[in-house]
Amino acid sequence: MLQAETVDRILRMRGDGLPVLSLYVRFDPADRRAFPSRVAEQLHEVRLLAGDPSVERDSRLSLRGDVGRIEEAVRQERLHPQAVAFFSCSGRGGFENVELPRPVRDRHVVDATAWVRPLVAVLEEYHRCRVVVVDRGRARFFDLYQDEMVECPGRLRDRTLRKPDYAAGMREHTVHNKVELLTKRHYRAVAERLDEEARRHEFDIIALGGHDHEIAEFLDHLPAAVRERIAGTFSVHPREDELGKIRRRAEQVVERYERVEEQRLVTETLERRASGGLAVVGLADCLWAGATAAVNQLLVQDEVVIPGAICDNDGYLAVEGDRCPVCGREMRRTPDVVYELAQAVIDEGGSVEHVAAETPLREHVTAATLRFPPPPQPAV
Ligand SMILES: [Zn+2]
Repeated sequence: MLQAETVDRILRMRGDGLPVLSLYVRFDPADRRAFPSRVAEQLHEVRLLAGDPSVERDSRLSLRGDVGRIEEAVRQERLHPQAVAFFSCSGRGGFENVELPRPVRDRHVVDATAWVRPLVAVLEEYHRCRVVVVDRGRARFFDLYQDEMVECPGRLRDRTLRKPDYAAGMREHTVHNKVELLTKRHYRAVAERLDEEARRHEFDIIALGGHDHEIAEFLDHLPAAVRERIAGTFSVHPREDELGKIRRRAEQVVERYERVEEQRLVTETLERRASGGLAVVGLADCLWAGATAAVNQLLVQDEVVIPGAICDNDGYLAVEGDRCPVCGREMRRTPDVVYELAQAVIDEGGSVEHVAAETPLREHVTAATLRFPPPPQPAV
């Protein structure tokens, strides 16, 4: 699983004079055996560099170490990633091996720092969800991110009054007031914790679970900054239900939230286009905008694959044609030009959102908001 902390760690990887190798390779779970040879193909070029006498000796040794380290990591058991990224600076003892839930283009970059742009683009598409299961006396916290749910340390267990202890000798309304006081104190403690964690950007959204009436009580105690991050609530018995159920319910909340957000993005982009603003709709216009680095955010209909062509000289993208209308060279056929477009957008610092929700994008395939109006398209 790809975590924001991992990306932070990779970003801090410094060669201090030695090169950092970043290497991305697509992984096809249906054809696992292809993976080692795809990695080997990339490593071949790194080896050439490691043997290049014009490169400083320490750098060459470090690169050689990187190749060895990655060759070792390739053999590791993997479940179902769509791509794997390796970051290595063996001369400084740095190594990271990250599985990605989205395919990325095979390539390697040797530089003073790690090249993380494709990682960041994948991260941007997933929301970090804090799952909170709360009742009148306890609270548990989990991180739900890309299909994994992990409990955060530090459950809250505040003092509650239980029937057998409190009944003796206390008048009923006193007991009642005491119970209310303790409950409020508990809810406030949970709210404060979430408020602090929200300020530290530990999560993007919250899925809140518990008994319906207790959730309603608890919501009253949340400051506005926390409340606006609530993606949804779900009913569970905080003390009885097993983790699997809590997780499934929380995942449904995230799923609904993401579909609604996708619908919002599609609607906004289509409206912007309709009002003559900086946006394009449809594959042909998006391909040109992508090839000219004009895309701010690209929306892609999830799981759509369309064959096309790409010019390796200038990045021109097309659904049809053999010859690039920009430079006149022959274009390379690609089984999926939508994927090539997404990679081009990521390379230029734009973002990509895959849309699984039912929206008009199903008909248009792609739409994008733009940074600037693209230049006029060349005649085909
Ligand atoms: Zn060209």
